[in-house]
Amino acid sequence: MTKSAIYAGSFDPITNGHLDIIHRALAVFDVIYVGVLENVEKQSLFSVNDRVAMISNSVQSDQVYVDGFTGLLVDYARQKQVNTIIRGLRAVSDFDYEFQMSLTNRALDSNIDTVFFMTDQKYSYLSSSLVKQLARFNGDISEFVSPYVKGRLEEVFNG
Ligand code: ADP
Repeated sequence: MTKSAIYAGSFDPITNGHLDIIHRALAVFDVIYVGVLENVEKQSLFSVNDRVAMISNSVQSDQVYVDGFTGLLVDYARQKQVNTIIRGLRAVSDFDYEFQMSLTNRALDSNIDTVFFMTDQKYSYLSSSLVKQLARFNGDISEFVSPYVKGRLEEVFNG
């Protein structure tokens, strides 16, 4: 039986911390659907299509499928016929929000479970927002994102 899971998030843009979670999850799951959320409440730097392209270019695995979604994560999970959601944890500060989301998703669909992977310590302070701030002011982001994402950020901020 194929073990599948969904890794959902904004990924605006995908960082090496997100990639670390995907690689850890591939040791447990056969197939991972990366779902890029079009969040109406959150202003994003990149369009969903751009974020999907950056993930596809940064992840070289035929076990990983990437697409965008809007609306509820549980509906996207049903559409993919997947009951497991993957989320990453960086520090205790992530826990409250993730706990709330996990229990909410389970309240909406009792079949859904969320599993958490702890990031490598070296990515524990890394976020998409931090990377965007650094890129905006020409900071070196080579250690934080894939070369493709670095190029896209440079295009956005330096033309
Ligand atoms: P969201 O807006 O849904 O939180 P993000 O793209 O910020 O979307 O994060 C998606 C998931 O990846 C979340 O579970 C988040 O905790 C996790 N994550 C974000 N940055 C890192 C990182 N540096 N290391 C590990 N996990 C991370």
